[in-house]
Amino acid sequence: MKKKFTVVMKFGGSSVANVERIQNVARRIIDTKTTNNNVAVVVSAMGDTTDEFEELAFKLSKNPSTREMDMLMSTGEQISCALVAIAIEELGHKAISFTGNQVGILTDGEYSKAKIQTISGDCIKKAFAEGKIVIVAGFQGVDSKNEITTLGRGGSDLTAVALAKALDADVCEIFTDVTGIYTTDPRIVKDAKKLKEITFDEMLEMASLGAQVMQARSIEVAKRFNIPLHVRSSLSKEEGTMIVKKLEKIEDICVTGVTLNKNEVKITICAVPDKPGIAAQLFGEVSKAGVNVDLIVQNVSHTKQTDISFTAPKADLSKALDATRKVAAKIGAGDVLESSNIARVSIVGSGMRSHHGIAATMFKTLADNKINIDMISTSEISISCIINKEDAEKAVTVLHKAFELEK
Ligand code: ADP
Ligand code: ASP
Ligand code: MG
Repeated sequence: MKKKFTVVMKFGGSSVANVERIQNVARRIIDTKTTNNNVAVVVSAMGDTTDEFEELAFKLSKNPSTREMDMLMSTGEQISCALVAIAIEELGHKAISFTGNQVGILTDGEYSKAKIQTISGDCIKKAFAEGKIVIVAGFQGVDSKNEITTLGRGGSDLTAVALAKALDADVCEIFTDVTGIYTTDPRIVKDAKKLKEITFDEMLEMASLGAQVMQARSIEVAKRFNIPLHVRSSLSKEEGTMIVKKLEKIEDICVTGVTLNKNEVKITICAVPDKPGIAAQLFGEVSKAGVNVDLIVQNVSHTKQTDISFTAPKADLSKALDATRKVAAKIGAGDVLESSNIARVSIVGSGMRSHHGIAATMFKTLADNKINIDMISTSEISISCIINKEDAEKAVTVLHKAFELEK
């Protein structure tokens, strides 16, 4: 039998934030369903529900267990998927909602950042056969011990991409509160430009460097299985941005976008003895604590002592500090300092591989605007500078202009 055309649609928190938005989403889903095809929908928690849950937990404890946090955080999506199913049924169509557990999303046991291992999807296929629209709670799964796990912030994007793979979907659409992927966050730069298409590599880099519009891990999976994504608005029919393997253009543009990340902290360990094995010990301990260290700078000195600075996600600050202090005491280093007053501004573009002078333009633009650079890092297709948080939005604006991204 010929496989039916299958669509996965994902709606983010802002798209299901209230009753009117849920009704809008329900109509949108029914529009897609009317032709003879299968529709699986992934939803996020309503509005800022997940942030509110987190705040509540932190009012009760400075260090809530990750197991209970996942129990709590996963409930937001269960509410919204049931409400979307109710709204669809009210409009006279057949729908059924499922949790991650019910659709057989099996993950590893790492609470708060679990990885999907397999998706059975049996109940989805059964519901399709009964002509039902399926609504799946995003951002969650269960591990082999039947423990509820979540997939990291923004993880409903990952649920959608993984489902698209599991169902061998023909289309995967990501509906959000902007009309596509822009050259930078349109909330910061008003004349940011919508991109018609962007490559997986560039989107992965932009997402990893702070463009919250897509979860980075979801792009990794989309890239691995070559699942083209269409990012678009839930409030308009306008065509959005296609995230694809390769662009049609003959030559790469040198800079595609500017990103900002204000969710990192910097930790410095002072007066570290300059001898072999120290960095291995320090970052070994930090990694054991489950912290993803990012940018690392070590100042070589002639005094046989050096300072080592690194950045890490804000959420991991206390774990990173504990681990660093432990090592500092053991190796006889000096103070351990922390700073939350940092931001990372980055430029991304696959054309950087073949153009030169881009770093120089970036540094000169920041200097001309009296923005001090604290740390620098580069990859094949990006350059990042750590700067003061107060300068963050200004840096994004001047870089966007310097690389003429509004044109
Ligand atoms: P959702 O709730 O639909 O998952 P998110 O809030 O996670 O939506 O992501 C959408 C937001 O991402 C937008 O409102 C926008 O401000 C922000 N954003 C950051 N960088 C970009 C970018 N380069 N292009 C588009 N949106 C961006
Ligand atoms: N609700 C979760 C979050 O806010 C997952 C998602 O929205 O994708 O991170
Ligand atoms: Mg999101």
